[in-house]
Amino acid sequence: MPQLATRTANSSQELQVVFFTAKEDLLQRRIQILIGNGKATSIGNDPWLPTTPSRAPNLLPTTDPELKVEALIYPILHQWNEDKLQSLIQPEDHHLIRKIFLPLKDEPDSHLWSPTKDGNYSVKSGYWTATNMAINDETPQPPLAHSPDIAASIWKLSITPKLKHFLWRVASKAIGTAENLRRRNINVNPYCSHCCNVLETCDHTFFTCPYAVSVWRAAGLPINQLCDPDTTIEDKLRQLFKINNDGHINRSTRFLPFWIMWRLWKGRNNLVFNRKAITTMETVNQAATDTKEWLDNAQKSDLTTRTAQVTKARREGWSKPPPGIMKCNYDVSHHDGNRASGLGWIIRDSTGAVLDCGMGKFQGRITTEEAECTSLIWALQAAWGLGYRMVEFEGDNQNINRAINEMRPTPRLHHYLETIWAWRQHFTLVSFKFKPREQNTCADILAKKAITCNNDWALYRSCPFFLFAAVNNDIGSGN
Ligand SMILES: [Zn+2]
Repeated sequence: MPQLATRTANSSQELQVVFFTAKEDLLQRRIQILIGNGKATSIGNDPWLPTTPSRAPNLLPTTDPELKVEALIYPILHQWNEDKLQSLIQPEDHHLIRKIFLPLKDEPDSHLWSPTKDGNYSVKSGYWTATNMAINDETPQPPLAHSPDIAASIWKLSITPKLKHFLWRVASKAIGTAENLRRRNINVNPYCSHCCNVLETCDHTFFTCPYAVSVWRAAGLPINQLCDPDTTIEDKLRQLFKINNDGHINRSTRFLPFWIMWRLWKGRNNLVFNRKAITTMETVNQAATDTKEWLDNAQKSDLTTRTAQVTKARREGWSKPPPGIMKCNYDVSHHDGNRASGLGWIIRDSTGAVLDCGMGKFQGRITTEEAECTSLIWALQAAWGLGYRMVEFEGDNQNINRAINEMRPTPRLHHYLETIWAWRQHFTLVSFKFKPREQNTCADILAKKAITCNNDWALYRSCPFFLFAAVNNDIGSGN
């Protein structure tokens, strides 16, 4: 098995904890090896196919299972060697291997968490499931499965993703309190760092510790139920959701409790790891500042303006790039399983005229995001190969645009993003933007056409007949 390597420090640490403490066979069902150079992964013994759960491919009888995956890859091209697939692997697994995108540079094999869409080792899917399951329980339930209303309430909250994720960790007993860590056989001091002689449970840390009580009280929140040791933590969270939903309460009070929990946790970590104590009032003030800053920002981009912007964008249609800059729209028509997927891209100038466009067929990926990235990489390479150096790339998948621009750690897209970031360097001026589907129809038509086309790919140096209407429509509706 290769070294554990993910791009998120926390995620990686957690993955390691699970890796070394839980039953190996249970883990192997959830961890998928992300093939880089294939040097550390054995072809028949390690789980590296993009299936859930991940598994090794079925080999032909003469294949040595200890052979490394490297043997299937062309070293310089970094592509799958079809001849080797034919001679070593059972035919029914070939298409699964072709779904795996290989990085262009030499990168070690790493791991991703196969149950999640982005491959992040997230608490939503839960390492809890891997570690806290009863020994004989093959189908464990994450804690939130017993209180689906809490899960739903958390995802519905209009707060920052950071806080949602944090609340999820609290609710699913995945946050690193002494109690949770010790349940995973990690030998840490079991006591609360404020009180020193009371066990550090979630409920204690956030609600019943005298320190927490003083914070809730100083913040002017109802402590009767919140700090009652006989009320379950689930009911306390429900209470906070109720406060959050109450339109009669002012906005900052509705959101403050979540920031208080966040600050209580930060303060706790400061005390445990840095031996630095934070006073009650400091915690309350920080939480109040966090809430205010967040509300101010949220108001600026409040929902009504955003909805108006989206409606406007939809009505506006495709827009022309500024003079001197090209716009490249790309899209994918994604099919999973063994069917081919199609991709399309189209480059237009500031008058809306088509300069180049193309389409291609490829083996469908596991997720739409992977397929979108495949299409963007093709578009980047084509644009660069055709000599364009100042290009706006527009696609209709918000997730990948965020992943590219915010450089988010996304293990499943790791090799794709690295490739996109590497190609980005070659352009003088380049941007990646999200536009609603209505503004991306030409690329969509090309991607769909690619699938029905007899050739594997096509390149047009002017507008092909079947795009006339859509291109004219874009010019007419655009600005
Ligand atoms: Zn305490």
